[in-house]
Amino acid sequence: MTTLRLAIVGAGPAGIYAADIAKKAERGFDVSIDLFERLPAPYGLVRYGVAPDHPRIKGIIGALREVLDGGAVRLFGNVDFGTDITLEDLQQHYHAVIFATGAVRDAALDIPGIDLPGSYGAADVVSWYDGHPDVPRDWPLEAEEVAVIGNGNVALDVARILIKHVDDLMPTEIPANVEAGLRSSPVTDVHVFGRRGPANVKFTPLELRELGEVRDVDMIVHDEDFDYDDQARTAIAANKQVMVMDRILQGWRTRETGAASRRLHLHWWARPVEILGDGRVEAIRWERTEPDGLGGARGTGEFREQAVQAVYRAVGYFGSPVPGVPFDEVRGVIPNHEGQVLAEDGALLPGVYATGWIKRGPVGLIGHTKSDAMETVEHVLTDAGLWWSPAHPEEQAVDDLLASRGVRFTSVEGWHLLDRHELALGEHVGRTRVKVVPRDEMLAASLGDPVA
Ligand SMILES: Cc1cc2nc3c(=O)[nH]c(=O)nc-3n(C[C@H](O)[C@H](O)[C@H](O)COP(=O)(O)OP(=O)(O)OC[C@H]3O[C@@H](n4cnc5c(N)ncnc54)[C@H](O)[C@@H]3O)c2cc1C
Repeated sequence: MTTLRLAIVGAGPAGIYAADIAKKAERGFDVSIDLFERLPAPYGLVRYGVAPDHPRIKGIIGALREVLDGGAVRLFGNVDFGTDITLEDLQQHYHAVIFATGAVRDAALDIPGIDLPGSYGAADVVSWYDGHPDVPRDWPLEAEEVAVIGNGNVALDVARILIKHVDDLMPTEIPANVEAGLRSSPVTDVHVFGRRGPANVKFTPLELRELGEVRDVDMIVHDEDFDYDDQARTAIAANKQVMVMDRILQGWRTRETGAASRRLHLHWWARPVEILGDGRVEAIRWERTEPDGLGGARGTGEFREQAVQAVYRAVGYFGSPVPGVPFDEVRGVIPNHEGQVLAEDGALLPGVYATGWIKRGPVGLIGHTKSDAMETVEHVLTDAGLWWSPAHPEEQAVDDLLASRGVRFTSVEGWHLLDRHELALGEHVGRTRVKVVPRDEMLAASLGDPVA
């Protein structure tokens, strides 16, 4: 064999980094890579997760784009693995496949009232404000008081986007429907709840600091949450990031408040136990917790309530099963050893690999998907004995297969067309870019068809 035909499913950062690493790796054979993506546009959560007011992080798309532009990687966008193409198809056309399908749904939070109207998962509102084509265009922003459950960066993203004045988001790429939705929002107060203390947050200092810089928003913190025990003091002394965040929070304790028209409240030692409401969300009930001496929290038996009309749970993402591939329902990942997928009996599944969030769970930053991909790709390239023997390894056979099924797939050139279209939409209204949301409009722009 002179050419390894490699399929990668998922064109998020993990899939694109895996392609780049495979392309550049030292090896005694050629490699030809096809990247399948269910959306018409590549980049996964960099395009549809990273907050629009984080242009520096969104800028990673530039580096990912260079990989696609560099040749040796073909993109098949608007192709859903499991519907448009299956594992059996891949076995007919490739020597191996890497699944890099990430995670798009919210982890569950099992408390009474969580299913009341007005209670949402963070993943859904993130998809909405980032212009994901497969979520409803209209988001019900009717609440003056909002609760966000969680103490990670996604919780901060959601809280910040909801509390910010929309005019301050206009330099970003937010689509027109998102602008209109946020403009009509009556929000005045967002309450963020964490079940442990300020020294245990999973934020990063940069994200925390920028909250304090949001225009016309007071940061409200409560003195009772800063009664540190030895464990908290040790955590602050031992970790520079925690130390920086503590300094930021201490600054907010003494800051003047009262002049802003909106407020962001941070509540710690607060474990939400129930969402209350008669037919829809009216309040959140939480138990005051206290340090358990081991870095965790235990209940105190004291319960409090806060009136809110909407609740967002930002308690983590969760992977989805990939049709025909083993899945660990508890961890929400494809079971694997260093990226080599494992069958139910624990044996290696020949030719099948995983990388990114679907490999190790939905934690970690974009950069982590690179080291992850290195490990997986190394196995792919050295596992020749486990590869499949495809009957149709020619590149054209894949185009023909998709065409025979009537799949309208997009390509790297199609992404360039969509990119230019979005930039032109932005230029038209004096902004850098305006994102296109409807899938048919994305497709039309990518395929060079007239856009309605
Ligand atoms: C709200 C949010 C904000 C974040 N902000 C930051 C940040 O500021 N900085 C940072 O470094 N990291 C951030 N992250 C983390 C970062 O997004 C992830 O580390 C990274 O995107 C994971 O990459 P991935 O390729 O594994 O998954 P994803 O980015 O989810 O990509 C998976 C891709 O697979 C595709 N796919 C799924 N199923 C199929 C299928 N059946 N067929 C075809 N294609 C499929 C998806 O459409 C998607 O494009 C954030 C994450 C979230 C959720």
